[in-house]
Amino acid sequence: MAAKVSSSLSSSLSKPTPFPLTPSQTPLSFSPKTLPKPFSSSSPTKTASLSYTHKTPFIASAKTPISDFFPENKQYPDGDFDGYDDYFRDDDEKPREECGVVGIYGDPEASRLCYLALHALQHRGQEGAGIVAVKNDVLQSITGVGLVSEVFNQSKLDQLPGDLAIGHVRYSTAGSSMLKNVQPFVAGYRFGSVGVAHNGNLVNYRALRAKLEDNGSIFNTSSDTEVVLHLIAISKHRPFLLRIVDACEQLEGAYSMVFVTNDKLVAVRDPHGFRPLVMGRRSNGAVVFASETCALDLIEATYEREVFPGEVLVVDKDGIQSLCLMSHPQPKQCIFEHIYFALPNSVVFGRSVYESRRAFGEILATEAPVDCDVVIAVPDSGVVAALGYAAKAGVAFQQGLIRSHYVGRTFIEPSQKIRDFGVKLKLSPVRAVLEGKRVVVVDDSIVRGTTSSKIVRLIKEAGAKEVHMRIASPPIIGSCYYGVDTPSSEELISNRMSVEEIREFIGSDSLAFLPFDSLKKLLGTESPNFCYACFSGKYPVEPREIKVKRVGDFVDDGLNGSLESIDGGWVQANTNQKKEKDKEYEESVVKI
Ligand code: SF4
Repeated sequence: MAAKVSSSLSSSLSKPTPFPLTPSQTPLSFSPKTLPKPFSSSSPTKTASLSYTHKTPFIASAKTPISDFFPENKQYPDGDFDGYDDYFRDDDEKPREECGVVGIYGDPEASRLCYLALHALQHRGQEGAGIVAVKNDVLQSITGVGLVSEVFNQSKLDQLPGDLAIGHVRYSTAGSSMLKNVQPFVAGYRFGSVGVAHNGNLVNYRALRAKLEDNGSIFNTSSDTEVVLHLIAISKHRPFLLRIVDACEQLEGAYSMVFVTNDKLVAVRDPHGFRPLVMGRRSNGAVVFASETCALDLIEATYEREVFPGEVLVVDKDGIQSLCLMSHPQPKQCIFEHIYFALPNSVVFGRSVYESRRAFGEILATEAPVDCDVVIAVPDSGVVAALGYAAKAGVAFQQGLIRSHYVGRTFIEPSQKIRDFGVKLKLSPVRAVLEGKRVVVVDDSIVRGTTSSKIVRLIKEAGAKEVHMRIASPPIIGSCYYGVDTPSSEELISNRMSVEEIREFIGSDSLAFLPFDSLKKLLGTESPNFCYACFSGKYPVEPREIKVKRVGDFVDDGLNGSLESIDGGWVQANTNQKKEKDKEYEESVVKI
């Protein structure tokens, strides 16, 4: 046990007992030190049957340099980027997940595996990507603006050797601060260097930052994640693990984070477990952390379990240490992961996302039935719920709307004339499916209502006789403070209008939402372990500060956004710091 542990830390370190892991979940090549499962209803055994083997070598497939996507000499000042964002967001007004993270320990192709895993997590953020890899005690970082395939290519991955790496994809608003806020962040402190990738949002960010600035800290970015690095750097605790714990104990809100040092990978999930984080293992014993299991699938890692709310997992040459270092309030996992954010092939919070969405559709068919000839989906996020609705209603599911996957930033300059085409650029109606039909169209959510009205008009213009909108979530009435970019409450149509008023606004013949009570009933005994704040307005962690938009609120942070800087950062640790840091750690490893 660490000799120099404060009372708050030591109390939480005192009595660990094993998680109730099944044999198949028990790590083979490491010595797990485990602790009590913080809550009982989300059993990891449900999905422990997933199994894969490592069969093929990994070949990085990125071939396209980022410069190909940005015309030479073209500048994208804030306003231009914002124009792109506004343009596409107008027609795709869903809440935005604000990040995906991955961490890999013990594989000689760690950065390439990170690259592939980030591909699998691309839906969680498309604005920037980065990887930090460790080789010979040096942390090397490459970050950039754009999709994973735009940021990385073969030669960049060649610059990230080592068997330890973390990666990050981010969604953010646009502007000059884009590059600086792309993670992972790397910082040097007295005992070495540390990299961090964060998914979530800290509700006490401003207060923490103000306090740190009062004490002389200088911030380089406008991201709340940088606060974590400062807190680690100034912590008096040793070893490094306890610095992380000390820092996390000061954070409020949502954080699923992976850290990397010269020889350790650390995964942390906030005590409420707002955002997901899972652990898996490759057949060669490499340990993988990722936001979703779809990333594990892609890199042929076997899902083992979630990182539990309030848990800190440390992976190094001695194995895995699992510590429950923070108090355990009732978990509040984000239900929107199951409604919209996560991929349907992922298992999130111990539940299949596909099965959840299908059940949402079935509930809608049972509780809000309507005579119809065909069931269609707003692709892609409404598809699984529409399948559930169609099966339950006994009506054919057909592809009445086709999504274009090829509309992106590089498509065309957004002029007002083009903007007016709106949703048609992304969704095309299939007249053969819709003409003369009574159509049920299933979508995952309604935010401002503008997209829904355009979709209804599109379907009617294609000849539909009736359009019945079914929404596979309850009405959204509150903004999210835990890592999801939603509009302010005033902009949310369900906060301003009744269901009938919304129906009138969007022009459908009928409209029904997934009843809140039915959603909770579906989740059964796990229901209290989920956050529903955007449907109920009841926030499990009170948002004491005004909403922090991770990037967009901080317009002028001094970076001019030139194309030259898009290539990202390169940070090297001071290797002389390593011995001191190692010694510090070795002396006080927490034994359980
Ligand atoms: S407020 Fe909504 S989107 Fe945010 S964490 Fe809670 S359920 Fe998820």
